[in-house]
Amino acid sequence: MSDTCLFCRIAAGEIPATVVHETGTTLAFRDIGPKAPVHVLVIPKAHHANVGELAEADPALAGAVLAAAGAVAKAEGLTGDGYRIIFNTGPHSGQEVDHAHAHVLGGAPLGPMLCQ
Ligand code: AMP
Ligand code: ZN
Repeated sequence: MSDTCLFCRIAAGEIPATVVHETGTTLAFRDIGPKAPVHVLVIPKAHHANVGELAEADPALAGAVLAAAGAVAKAEGLTGDGYRIIFNTGPHSGQEVDHAHAHVLGGAPLGPMLCQ
């Protein structure tokens, strides 16, 4: 837990979020600035700066985040038409919050993977 990390503080219940799924090690909540009709963030409760560091430090927890993302997609009704999972990682990706998180996006056609 980092006192200065936004997502650690959400995981600790110090900052409110609209939680849609929770396990012992993961939390999923709606993105505050949705980029699609469904936009949910899935985080490990433990602090890891990005998904690469998470996978290296704790592969089982990385798997738990993916499993939670899949469960969220199913619960949100996205499995029929499909959805996208994004892990922004580092400056070139535009990662804004340095706590590993999966974006689960869907509910409408999402367009090309990258806008150039
Ligand atoms: P990234 O750019 O991959 O680091 O994504 C960070 C995401 O966190 C952005 O999509 C923000 O809209 C979202 N975000 C920032 N603050 C909050 C918050 N308090 N609750 C929910 N989502 C947030
Ligand atoms: Zn954190």
